[in-house]
Amino acid sequence: MSQNCEAIYEYSAKVLDLISKADVDQTEASWITKQTVEGFREYVNPGFLAYRKSVTKGGQYASVEWRDSGPNCFIDLHGKEYIDCLGGFGIYNVGHRHPKVIKAVKDQMDRQALHSQDLLDPLRAMLAKILAELTPGDLKYSFFTNSGTESVEAAIKMAKIHQNNKGKHTFLATTRAFHGKSIGALSGTAKSGFRKPFLPLVGGFRHVAFGDIDMMQKTMQACAMVGEDVAAILVEPIQGEGGVIIPPDDYLRNLRELCDQYEALLIFDEVQTGMGRTGKMFCSEHYQVVPDIMCLAKAFGGGVMPAGATIASEKVFANLFENPFLHTTTFGGNPLACAAAIATINVLLEERLPERAAEIGSWFLAELKNAVSGHEDKVLEVRGKGLLIGLEFLNDQIGYEVSKGLFDHGILVAGTLINAKTIRIEPPLTITREQCTKVCNALRSVLAGLTK
Ligand SMILES: *Cc1c(COP(=O)(O)O)cnc(C)c1O
Repeated sequence: MSQNCEAIYEYSAKVLDLISKADVDQTEASWITKQTVEGFREYVNPGFLAYRKSVTKGGQYASVEWRDSGPNCFIDLHGKEYIDCLGGFGIYNVGHRHPKVIKAVKDQMDRQALHSQDLLDPLRAMLAKILAELTPGDLKYSFFTNSGTESVEAAIKMAKIHQNNKGKHTFLATTRAFHGKSIGALSGTAKSGFRKPFLPLVGGFRHVAFGDIDMMQKTMQACAMVGEDVAAILVEPIQGEGGVIIPPDDYLRNLRELCDQYEALLIFDEVQTGMGRTGKMFCSEHYQVVPDIMCLAKAFGGGVMPAGATIASEKVFANLFENPFLHTTTFGGNPLACAAAIATINVLLEERLPERAAEIGSWFLAELKNAVSGHEDKVLEVRGKGLLIGLEFLNDQIGYEVSKGLFDHGILVAGTLINAKTIRIEPPLTITREQCTKVCNALRSVLAGLTK
């Protein structure tokens, strides 16, 4: 590539001009669309275009998102509005661009964006205090991150430093788990398609069927018998990416008991289930189980800033007291992210969004069940907790067709290339009943239009 600085300068200036505009005209919209599609093909990854084609009808794969429209919708470049039932895989719990979150971030940005990295930064301390109060049991100290993957990575390292000198090195995760894709987090993730190209991963990870407490107990026992004691169990309270899989009611409590019995740590990955999504602030509260380490991200930054946290009990976190630089990140816990997270928690409490998720979620679930009744040949199950809902189809193909049909009706759901058999409905917790009814009606009409 030649160093054509003048052309680069002009191109960047043109893009900056577009960013600054509240609205673009037709010519600009066409230019942006062309640049986006070409840019993905030539410079990002053409695989994304193939994926978009697989989940949309006709030319709609080239739909380019441009602006939000109220808390629960967004609009593409050509003015088509979509109800956001994907919610960025669960990042928009307080809705898109909640004014309080935006204000907090803007106010902070106007004063100081990122910190010196050396002096004590106040918002990190205040957010950590809020989290210690908000999270269950004796969870107390927080390490801040920029993503769910980093939160899980930190949790694994905290468990390792706590257990290494006790000779416990084995990590138990569960089948169909999703914990992220860095080498450490991927070791906990269960999907063979994501893992196989990168083997061998971190040593000592084993996977046990999710929800099967007998198998977990036998595995703990076997590990102890062969001298490969378990350092920690890493688990999502409800599996998100795996297809909204809800464990038996006593599963998490039994895991807690097993961990206590074998002196293993219990790590809850609440990256997707936290921040009110399932009808409680944290999903583990439904089951009244307190983990030793909890991972947060996704909705933690209010859908405005990337932000995550790993919160641990003092017993576990104390291993990092002597040398706080043992595990660090430059941007984790930056003032903008902390401002966003503090505002997000304030909004969740003020608007009682966890309670709202429980209430509207159980009504929406019942409505969705109604909408699919009579289609038992296509839909296997509708299940969920709060506003984490999964529609499981007979096969991938039906999942694709339903996602496509809903997109055509202006509704975005998560029908992924990897697992279209179950599509996830994870709207902002602010979604209205009217919007839910629209989704149900669209689902009815899409299912009715499907040939077997
Ligand atoms: C999304 C997700 C992650 C990974 O988070 P990223 O922010 O994408 O790195 C980890 N765990 C769970 C349960 C998730 O849903």
